Amino acid sequence: MMQQQPDTLTDSLTTALDYAARGWRVFPLLPGSKRPATPNHRATDCDGTAPGCRTTHAGWEQRATIRADKITKAWSSNPAYGVGIACGPSRLVVVDLDTHKPGTEIPEPWKSFEITTGADVLDHLAGVHGGTITPTYTVRTVSGGTHLYYAAPADVAYGNTAGKIGWLIDTRAHGGYVAAPPTSIGASAYDIIDDRPAAPLPMFLLDLLTHDRRPATRTSQNRSQDGSRTQARPLQPIGSGEPLRDPDAYVNRVFDIAINGDHANGVAGLLDATKGGRNAALFVAAATVGKLVARDLITEHSALDRLLVAAAGHIAARAYTAYEAENTILSGFRRAATRSAA
Ligand SMILES: [Zn+2]
Repeated sequence: MMQQQPDTLTDSLTTALDYAARGWRVFPLLPGSKRPATPNHRATDCDGTAPGCRTTHAGWEQRATIRADKITKAWSSNPAYGVGIACGPSRLVVVDLDTHKPGTEIPEPWKSFEITTGADVLDHLAGVHGGTITPTYTVRTVSGGTHLYYAAPADVAYGNTAGKIGWLIDTRAHGGYVAAPPTSIGASAYDIIDDRPAAPLPMFLLDLLTHDRRPATRTSQNRSQDGSRTQARPLQPIGSGEPLRDPDAYVNRVFDIAINGDHANGVAGLLDATKGGRNAALFVAAATVGKLVARDLITEHSALDRLLVAAAGHIAARAYTAYEAENTILSGFRRAATRSAA
């Protein structure tokens, strides 16, 4: 029986050709690295002698191609090359979801929400904005993060962003590229998680990329009853194993963010929701404070009550009935319970 050997040439070449067939422009990466294999010099060092640079310097974005002959030639010259995809010319916006590095600070409000991955931040933002994370071509990165490949709208050219959409969320478009499967770095390789074609960029992401993500600051609802500004205080994370010094203050702070948002950190709350997004916002608020219920820091009855009071304006505006609001809140609690158990 023949020993099965990983055939890097076949893998990389076949996959690169498959990307090209999807209209994605590829270029080789140095073996075991995320760095482009060509050109081997910077624009400022270009003397016009390198192949591809005769008329003008060509960087990886200009060299990225869908031409089968060029692709075959490149990966035949070095079977160990990884595969880079130039996002902009491929009409892709790739959403890069990272994971929290242990030992680094978790910013608010995510710390209070116990959210530590870009995937969960995106999930939260989708809920707040009434959007959907449409299933699309998905890759697991070598660092344990996720790349969501979305088709860019035809009429807008996006650049790269770092943290604009949210904590641990970057996007790659014009001027950006991704290392794609089967590129390997050390012992790990980029892996296809979902092989379907790239779905159109979801509307809520398009909005977050196009506009300032921070909702307008409301003054009236940010004030406590005596008219003073509610001051955000740093709090211990729950679930850290340490007993809470002031559980009531913690519960109040989580409710405050879930209901009023944390505008300094660009996160909207239940009261920021507008037409079309109100039910989703209620669900997100319930899933957020539901973690307090799951940890017995507040009873389900009191949490339900507080959220129904907060949602009174939306009920009055006929966004949903009180009965529907209660059902939405309870399903948010169930989601929090499921997640806490996981
Ligand atoms: Zn050059």
